[in-house]
Amino acid sequence: MGAHAAYIHIPFCVRKCAYCDFLSFPSCVAKLPEYVEALCREIELAPEFWGAGETAACCGGVDAAQASPPARDVLTSVYFGGGTPSLLSTSQLEKILGSIRKVFTLSEDCEITLEANPGTIDEEKLRGFREAGVNRLSLGIQSLDDSVLTTLGRIHDEETARRAILDAKKAGFRNISCDMMLGIPGQSRAAVESTLSFFLEQEIPHVSLYSLILEEGTPMYARYDGDIEKFVSQEEDRALYHYVVETLKENGFDHYEISNMGRPGFESRHNLMYWRAENYYAFGCGAHYYMGCERGRHAETLDEYLTALAAAEPQKAAIYTPEEKLTTEDQKKEFMMLAFRTGKGVEGQAFEARFGMMVESAFGEELEKEIREGLVEKTAEGYRLTEKGFDLANQVFSDYV
Ligand code: SF4
Repeated sequence: MGAHAAYIHIPFCVRKCAYCDFLSFPSCVAKLPEYVEALCREIELAPEFWGAGETAACCGGVDAAQASPPARDVLTSVYFGGGTPSLLSTSQLEKILGSIRKVFTLSEDCEITLEANPGTIDEEKLRGFREAGVNRLSLGIQSLDDSVLTTLGRIHDEETARRAILDAKKAGFRNISCDMMLGIPGQSRAAVESTLSFFLEQEIPHVSLYSLILEEGTPMYARYDGDIEKFVSQEEDRALYHYVVETLKENGFDHYEISNMGRPGFESRHNLMYWRAENYYAFGCGAHYYMGCERGRHAETLDEYLTALAAAEPQKAAIYTPEEKLTTEDQKKEFMMLAFRTGKGVEGQAFEARFGMMVESAFGEELEKEIREGLVEKTAEGYRLTEKGFDLANQVFSDYV
């Protein structure tokens, strides 16, 4: 088993945003030092739990060329997600990366991403992160409009968000991604335009674009009665989405995945790994993993996680809960669904290399139907969504469930 990417979950936040249902604990920040200890222990147990370093030509994206295992897995991407990883101190971050380096080899150009909440950073902190090895910053900006940020319940305001971008640049980051959210009640076109023009003015090379989804159990779900469409016109939302996509394209961005646009060379390596359905290590409370055709999750309460890692001999079963073992048929469908999210789409050769059969033999009927409906088009390498297909992607995905 083995993988070339690692996800590290930091499940702490200053306060819960009104729309958020990610696993994060707003009132437990004091437990961060104890959590970092547990996390490092988990990472260092990876060879025992996962056979890290025994890379095999298993399903899940490790290709046959790597069947002869390296002494240690070489990671090309490490991703700190949350939660709010920017709550870590520089020394905590260094400690975690130190554990990663004990167990894995980092490739020379390893992408090390850290998600940062604008309300938790300044230039000095960011400089420390950069010196510790972080070379890609994902900023949860969402909007540069105070009323939108208040609606979302973010801890930062417009001024803090603008300053965070400037601080990131002053700290020496070039590879910066900004999250931008659409479909928010009360969000004006002017607010979207000014957010986007600041990103462009500051030469931000990557933008992740999301539409607000009301998740059950969140304050926003209750506030909007579970039905956002009553408050945001879908036509307007789509028009704004197209405006952002077109403006970014005109400015040299590639729409390389449904929700992600980047200048050439700034695509998120970590996310591309997810969309290729490759194996990845995951560490931390609540983190989901995909390893050797098995999908599963970590203990989801802080107490459960900390107790499991505090044991004299931590047990894999106390930390991980396998959820699904993917059959080859499941994997083929998942490959299609994930590949269709990307601008390149499904590459025939990649499908054949993974599954030993032509994509047309596996999904000829589905592809023909999607082409007939104008959702998918044939390319030199395979098949990809059309403009219409990007808008109606769920219709295509439903063919592979
Ligand atoms: S900062 Fe991110 S993870 Fe934390 S509550 Fe807000 S949206 Fe959720």
